[in-house]
Amino acid sequence: MYKRVLLKISGEALAAGKGFGIDAVFIHKIAAEIAAVHALGCEIGIVVGGGNFFRGVAQQAIDMDRVAADHMGMLSTVINAIALQDAIEKLGLFCRVMSAIEMHEVAEPYIRRRAMRHLEKNRIVIFAAGTGNPYFSTDTAASLRAMEIKADILLKATSVDGIYTADPKVDDTATKFDQITYSEMLRLNLRVMDTTAVSLCRDNNMPMMVFSMREPGNIVRVVSGEKIGSLVTA
Ligand code: UDP
Repeated sequence: MYKRVLLKISGEALAAGKGFGIDAVFIHKIAAEIAAVHALGCEIGIVVGGGNFFRGVAQQAIDMDRVAADHMGMLSTVINAIALQDAIEKLGLFCRVMSAIEMHEVAEPYIRRRAMRHLEKNRIVIFAAGTGNPYFSTDTAASLRAMEIKADILLKATSVDGIYTADPKVDDTATKFDQITYSEMLRLNLRVMDTTAVSLCRDNNMPMMVFSMREPGNIVRVVSGEKIGSLVTA
């Protein structure tokens, strides 16, 4: 169904319900799903979050300068990217980490043309360190990279099976959208993704799919065009 996708995986997902750190079993399950998508012939770029280690807006950063805290957040995403790369490589696939903050010893610098070349050569590319700038999120980095690599769709894997009228974890009257427009998402202030990320997709017509990564096989289902999750378009 899709030839090239940008998959956003939050840091929280890698903690698999534990709230902090990387779940050693779950990361291998994610890697296996990514390998299954790769086996379908789909080119994959991945943006990983860092919330399982540090967020610039977190309580623990309350007394910190926001820029310093965001730098810590971006470095957290690099830890996750390296862990995911390792899990993917264990399956015999080629995978490159490209960091928006230069750190030559651990990752390639993000160079768009080089990223395109990796994808064309069927290498999985993990984009680390967000956009490289404070005051942004990895959701915005995912929107940006999706556009830069000319992905067919931005896939946002979460712990909820789509976009709801309210948070279904706290409000049981919440109903799910199978499809929604960017403008509606912004108007209703649905906090599935931050407004910068949604606006960027809206202004550049990048479709987004929000779906749950909790059920095994869902990434393959989404890439194959199965109607799970919520689709966001114009
Ligand atoms: N961050 C940033 N600029 C970016 C991307 C991320 O400063 O372009 C920082 C920010 O502090 C953020 C943290 O990195 O809180 C981790 O990213 P995010 O919260 O998006 O991770 P996720 O919620 O997806 O795990």
